[in-house]
Amino acid sequence: MSKYQSDNLFGEKLTDVCAGNHIIRVAFDAGVDAEFDYLVPDELWPVGIGQRVEVPFGRKNKKQTGFCVQAGIPPEKSFISVSKAKKLKVVLSVVDKEPLLDGHLFSLAQWISSYYVCPLGIVLSAMVPAAVKKGTGIKKEKLIYLAPDFEKLAEKIRGSKQKKIVALLKELGAFAAESAVELQGILAETSSTIAPVDKLAQQMIIKTIYKEVFKSLPVIPPGMMIQQQSVTLNDDQKNALEHIKQKLDSGKFSVTVLFGVTDSGKTEVYIRAIEEVLKRGKKAIVLLPEIALTAQTVQRFSSRFANIAVMHSGLNASQRNAQWQKIKNGQADVVIGARSAVFAPLQNLGLVVVDEEHEPSYKQDNAPRYNARDVAVKRAQLADAHCILGSATPSLETLHNCQAKKHFAIVRLPKRVMGSSFPEMRLVDLKTSPLTGKGLDLISKPLAEQLNIVLERKEQAILLLNRRGYSNFVFCPSCKYTLHCRNCDVTLTFHKMRIGDKGRFETILGKHISTGSAVCHYCGSQTLVPEKCPLCGASFIMIGFGSQRLEEEVKVKFPNAVVARVDSDSMAGEDYYRLLKDFSEGRINILAGTQMLAKGLHFPNVTLVGIISADTSLYLPDFRANERTFQLINQVAGRAGRCEKKGVVFVQTFLPDQPAIKFAMTGNFDGFIEEELKHRKTCHLPPFWRLASIVLMDQKFDMLEYAAKELRELIDSILHQNNLEAIVRGPMPATISRIQRFHRMQIIVQAQTPQILQRLFDCLRRHEIKTSTKIIIDIDPVHLL
Ligand code: ADP
Ligand code: ZN
Repeated sequence: MSKYQSDNLFGEKLTDVCAGNHIIRVAFDAGVDAEFDYLVPDELWPVGIGQRVEVPFGRKNKKQTGFCVQAGIPPEKSFISVSKAKKLKVVLSVVDKEPLLDGHLFSLAQWISSYYVCPLGIVLSAMVPAAVKKGTGIKKEKLIYLAPDFEKLAEKIRGSKQKKIVALLKELGAFAAESAVELQGILAETSSTIAPVDKLAQQMIIKTIYKEVFKSLPVIPPGMMIQQQSVTLNDDQKNALEHIKQKLDSGKFSVTVLFGVTDSGKTEVYIRAIEEVLKRGKKAIVLLPEIALTAQTVQRFSSRFANIAVMHSGLNASQRNAQWQKIKNGQADVVIGARSAVFAPLQNLGLVVVDEEHEPSYKQDNAPRYNARDVAVKRAQLADAHCILGSATPSLETLHNCQAKKHFAIVRLPKRVMGSSFPEMRLVDLKTSPLTGKGLDLISKPLAEQLNIVLERKEQAILLLNRRGYSNFVFCPSCKYTLHCRNCDVTLTFHKMRIGDKGRFETILGKHISTGSAVCHYCGSQTLVPEKCPLCGASFIMIGFGSQRLEEEVKVKFPNAVVARVDSDSMAGEDYYRLLKDFSEGRINILAGTQMLAKGLHFPNVTLVGIISADTSLYLPDFRANERTFQLINQVAGRAGRCEKKGVVFVQTFLPDQPAIKFAMTGNFDGFIEEELKHRKTCHLPPFWRLASIVLMDQKFDMLEYAAKELRELIDSILHQNNLEAIVRGPMPATISRIQRFHRMQIIVQAQTPQILQRLFDCLRRHEIKTSTKIIIDIDPVHLL
C-alpha cells in the first residue's frame, strides 16, 4: 500500500493531492460514460496512455481494470470533486508493460468514441482482442544458467545428475541470463528429474529465469496451399496501379475507390499496391468481410508476401493473441482480417484496403457500433496513408463521397480479366410456377432442367437461399396458429435437427419428418416442435424457404449428384475449408446454402448459379432493401462462368418488376444507382442525409414508453437550443417490437450533415439521463430493425 494513503469517512482510500504527484485519467469498459482520475505511486510510475491499470472503483472500491487515457495531469487540471477535499484514489497495479495502443490508434479511439457516441473505455477495450487482454496462449518457459560464482561452490555439487547438469550448462556456455537455456531440454538431455535442478538452485549454483513464449499455430490447414502464378496486368489494372502509386508518392492521405466488376482483377491490384507500399518501407492492412476470408484468399496473399498476419474469427484465442503480438512486435508487413483488423497495431501504416466496401457486415452491431470501412478511412487519414475501397457494387455513400469530397477518386475496372463474358441472366417468375403437394418447389422447372444439363456436362452449380433452417415457420393449416418465440416478436424457424452447443447439428432420434426444433434466430432459444397443433390438434405444416429444405429437395430431385450445404449452422472453421476444397476438386457437384456462398470463392467449373428467392431482402422494411437485393444478385452472378466456360444465372422471384431486380438482370449498375438516388434524395436519406437510430429497450412497456417520450423531448430541446436542424421521427415501435422479452421502441434522427448529429449527441451525452431503460444509439445504421 502506498505511503500517502488514508481512509475517509466513507471508508474510501483517498490520498492528498499535491504538487509532484502523478495523476492519470482512467476509462473503463463498462458502466459510465465518464473517466476518473487516480494517483500513481512513485514505484509504479511512469504509466502511459494506452496502458491498463488496476484501480479501486466505486463506493465499494471494487478492483477494476481500465485504460490510462491521459497521464501526468497537473493537480489543478484534475477532476477532483470539492466534497472529497482534493483527494484521489490510488492505482493498485499496472497491467501492461507497454501501451497496447500507440498514438495513432489512440486518436482513432477518441474519434470513434465521439463519432459513434460510445464511452472511450469501451472503444479502447474493443480495439484489443480479448485473447490479448487475457494473455491467452502465452506460456512461461523456465530457463536456467550457471550463477556467476558457481565454481566457488563446486564442492556442493553432489551426485552424478547434478554434475551432469552443470557440465552440460558449461558446455552450452550458459553463464548469464542472456545465454540461459531451456530447462526442459536440459532435463531431457541428462535424463534427469527436476529434483537435482531444484537442489542446485537452492545452493545458488544455478539461477532460473522465465521467458514468455507465444504458441503460434498454422492458420491455414496444411496441405491446402495453392500456387499462384504471376500475371501481367492489363491496361485497366495498370492504370489503376499508376493512380495508386502517385497517391502513395504524395505521402498524403487520400482514397481510391476501385470500382471493378467481379473478376476484373481488383485483388491483383491490391496485391501490387501493397508491393509498392512495402518498397516504400511501409505496411498495409487488408480488410475483407468475414465470409470472404476463405483459405483461398488468405493463401493468395501469403503466397505473395512473406510476413503476413491474419485476424479473423476462425482463429482460436491463442492464435489470435499470437497473430496480434506478431503485428505489435513489427514482424508483420501485411495484416489480413475481418472488421476488427482495422485496429491491428501496425506501425508505419502506408495503405488500408477495404475489399467489398459496401458490405453491411463491416458494421459492428454492438458497442462501439462502428463501420470498419469508415474507420479504415479515418485511420488512413490519421496516418497520412492511402486507402483503397474496392467493390463491384460500391455503396451509395462511397459513390457520393467521390463526388462530394476532393480526396476521393474513383478508378474503374470495367472488364473481366481473361475477357470472360458475363453470365447469361434468366428470370423465373415464381408467381407462375405451379404449386406441388409441399407448397412451392424451391427449384423451378427451368432451373431444374438447366441443373440436369450442368450435371451431365460434369460441371458444377451453386444454389443460393438467404434463409437458414428448414423452412421459415411452422404453421397450423386449420386454425392458422404459428409457433412464436416466447421472448421475441418473431416466428420461429424450423430446424430439422437440434442445434448443438457449438452451433452444429446433432441428430434427434425419431423418424417423423417434422421431428426437429423451432429456433429463434434472434435470441437463440429453441423448443421441440409438437407434431400436432396445441390449439386444434391438426398436423403442422412448414411454410417458406430454408437452406435445409433446399438441400433436401436437391437430394430428392438429383439423387446422383453430391450436394453439400453451406450455412452458419453447418459450418465451422476447418470443415468449411475442407468442404470448399472438396468442391474445388470436383468431389461435390452442387453447393447449396446461404449468402456465405456469394463471396470470395473462385471455382472455374461453376457454370450455373441459382438464386432461389431474390426477394428475401426486399421484404425487409429497410430503405436499403433495394440496394442489398441489387448487390446480392450482382455478387452471385459473378460466381458463374468465371473462366472460359460460359455461365448461366437463374433468378427466381415473386417480384419481377421491382427495379432492383430488373436492373440487376441486365447488370445495369448505373441505371440502378440513378433510380435509387432519386428516392433517397426525396426522402432525405443517405447518402444525401445522415441517419442516427436510437433504440430503447425495456421489459416493462410503460417504462419504455415514458423513457422514449422523455428522450424525444430532450432531443427536441437540444436541437432547438443549439439551433440545429434535423428531422426526428418517433418514438415508434421498432420493426421487431420485442426481442428477448424486451419491448423495443425507436427514434430516428435525420440530419443534413454529420456535424449536426455529432453536436446533438455531444450534448445528449452530457445530460444525465436517469432511466433504467436501455438506450442504444446507432450512427450511420446499416439497417433499421
Ligand atoms: P476480383 O478481385 O476483381 O474479383 P481477382 O483479382 O481475384 O479479381 O482476379 C480474378 C482472377 O483473375 C484471379 O484468379 C487472378 O489471379 C486472375 N487475374 C487477375 N489479373 C490478371 C491478369 N492481369 N492476367 C491474368 N489473370 C489475372
Ligand atoms: Zn427469441
